[in-house]
Formats: sequence, structure tokens, C-alpha cells
Amino acid sequence: MTMDLLPIALVAAATAFLAAMAGGYRRIDWTNRGAPRNPGTFTPQGVTLHYAAGTKGGDPEDVLYQTSKLGYSYHYLVDRDGTTYQLVPDDQGSVHTDGTRNRTSYGIGFLNIGPAQLERPGWPYAPIPGSYPEWPGAYWEPYTQDQLASAAALIRRLGADPTWYLIGHQDVNSGKSDPGPAFPWSEFERLTGLKRGLS
Ligand SMILES: [Zn+2]
Repeated sequence: MTMDLLPIALVAAATAFLAAMAGGYRRIDWTNRGAPRNPGTFTPQGVTLHYAAGTKGGDPEDVLYQTSKLGYSYHYLVDRDGTTYQLVPDDQGSVHTDGTRNRTSYGIGFLNIGPAQLERPGWPYAPIPGSYPEWPGAYWEPYTQDQLASAAALIRRLGADPTWYLIGHQDVNSGKSDPGPAFPWSEFERLTGLKRGLS
């Protein structure tokens, strides 16, 4: 490293650190927990976002268990306080979307209950009232600022550059609402510097 690059590296490191702290970024390594991996080549060129509910309303242990049972996996789960669980190593594919994107995108699952009826017993969060055509009468759990900031820091750490694509699972599977209508795309584009789109 030359002397004139050093300050830039320090500024970049400090910026990443501050962004990480702002998002409560904390990474827990669960890559030894048996999440399914996608065999074959993995060439990261983008990120596919998901909501991850499991059966217990967004418990990372449960999401890992349920998705593994079905043969699915995310690279990362981002909890509501910004804590990040890594399930699959960065140099291996996971199984979270269609075959092509499984070979080229990191799968990031946000812990989120997703759509729910307002009357749902035990509803722990303030719901966003919605007029979502695909979920009439339903509400969607809001995504937290800590989740968004932490996921953005994670995407930077994964080496994203402006050529990377940013999509939701719903963008390649029209039958799904995932990460759903409550996901703040423009804010996340601003945080990551990426544009939503398939290219
Ligand atoms: Zn999904």
C-alpha cells in the first residue's frame, strides 16, 4: 500500500465502521449450522432481498430450521436490531431464488413477520396499514432502520459495486410478495448506492 492510498483506506475503514455502528451491525457466524448450499459455481453480481418469517414471527433459529428443512437457505439473516447471522460462506451459493440468481446473488433475508391480519393474536409491533392489492385487509410488519443500515453495511462489505443488481425475490417470481410492499426501496437504494433492477 502506498502512502497516498493509506489515508483513503483509513477513511473508508472509519466510514464503514461508523456505518456499522449506526446500524448496530454485529455479525454472528452460523456457517457451521448446516444451511443448504447451492453446488456449482457462484459468481456474485448482485443481491436478492427476502422477508424471512419462519413460523415463530421472525426468530433466526426458527428461520434457519424451517428453511433448511425445505432445502432453502439465505447467505445472511438480518435481525430487527441489525444483528446479522451468516448462514452460508461468501464464496458459496445459497438456495433462495431461481437457479440463475442462486448462482449470481447473495440472498439476504430480513427477519419480518410479513403480511398479517391486524387481529392476529400476540401481534407485537405497530403495523403499517396498507392498501396492498395482493393482501386485502392485511398489514405488513415495518422494516427497521437498524435492519436497513446493517444490510447496507453488509452489502458494502461483500464488495458491491455499482454494476451489481439489487432485486427482491418478487422481481423474479411474480407470484410472490417478497420482501413485500412495506420494503422502502428508494431508501435502501440510497443507503447502498445500488439501483433496483434485474441487470
Ligand atoms: Zn424469498
